[in-house]
Amino acid sequence: MEGSDDCFQIFLLHNPLWVHSYHYMKAIQILETGGPEVLQLADLPIPHPGPGQVLIRIEATGVNFIEIYFRKGQYKASFPLTPGSEASGTVEELGPGVQGFTAGDLVASVSVMGSYAEYALVPAAQLVKVPAGLTPEQAAAAMLQGMTAHYLAYSTFPLKAGDTALVHAGAGGVGLLLTQLAARIGARVITTVSTTAKAELSLEAGASDVILYTEQDFEAEVKNLTGGKGVDVVYDSVGKTTFDKSLNCLKPRGLLALFGGSSGAVPPFDPIILSGKGSLYVTRPTLWHYIATRAELELRAGEILGWAASGQLKLRTEHIFPLAEAAQAQTALESRNTTGKILLEP
Ligand code: NDP
Repeated sequence: MEGSDDCFQIFLLHNPLWVHSYHYMKAIQILETGGPEVLQLADLPIPHPGPGQVLIRIEATGVNFIEIYFRKGQYKASFPLTPGSEASGTVEELGPGVQGFTAGDLVASVSVMGSYAEYALVPAAQLVKVPAGLTPEQAAAAMLQGMTAHYLAYSTFPLKAGDTALVHAGAGGVGLLLTQLAARIGARVITTVSTTAKAELSLEAGASDVILYTEQDFEAEVKNLTGGKGVDVVYDSVGKTTFDKSLNCLKPRGLLALFGGSSGAVPPFDPIILSGKGSLYVTRPTLWHYIATRAELELRAGEILGWAASGQLKLRTEHIFPLAEAAQAQTALESRNTTGKILLEP
């Protein structure tokens, strides 16, 4: 029919949502729990932004332990699942009612709905603009681990100059950032790492003392380093293999922030042990409760991205994998050989 192509073009121009329903993207899809091999590249429809949502074209995706917990079934998810919550990208399309963002803005979030993909939706309330001077890769590397380090150092146990902190996995993604923040505040930071190469990185980040916890008894070393007094706070993301001794490293009324389980989950324990070891505090925090309001999200993201842009916070991205190699990226993170951040790029 003559002119039908023109009509079709005009229809598409005025109905971008309709266009998307016929456009596909590359994305990782998991059909069932399992090993890294369940992370399969698939062609999936580009999603449509609903009310309050923004569609972003992803530039860089952060790989985090939480995706491994979901993949293995340690955390519950419904399948099929496109994993991932952290990414930077450019705004592609705004859903109804969204204000404050424009197509083409460089943005980042830790609440992306499936960031192992070329496109994804984000609630606008969870999205922040990336300040000038930061690349998309730097923004994706800073957001989740950076805001985690921020809430641990400033809110869970607000460090003061002169405090002593023990940070496990000091050369890891969170570990390097938390060490920098704690050292900037003026705290003494003792870290644990598994290799001498990681020890060097941890010292560069500002640790005053580094313990090779795969060779040395970290509890005895912390006692030596603190003249038997112990530390004010332990930031423990390793969990199963460190928890008991972490408690023993604390001063009376000290606080253990157990924020991860890279070595496995901590088994149940009787709270009476906290009394016997010095009226200790234990908390199991998660980032989502520390960015629950727009004000808190803007404060933490603004400071972390701002410090990264001005060079006050050093980011370390060790590996960037293509999206199709998501399985290799997760294997690398699990392998215990990585330092700093791992990213995927579509
Ligand atoms: P890391 O880069 O820190 O990697 C994990 C590190 O843990 C390893 O490099 C390794 O360091 C150490 N580790 C010790 N034992 C093991 C083991 N058996 N298997 C694997 N690693 C081990 O990862 P992230 O910075 O991305 O995350 C760190 C932790 O923080 C994770 O547990 C994650 O779930 C948690 N997390 C929690 C958040 C929260 O809000 N609660 C938010 C973000 C992360 P080494 O070789 O030096 O021992």
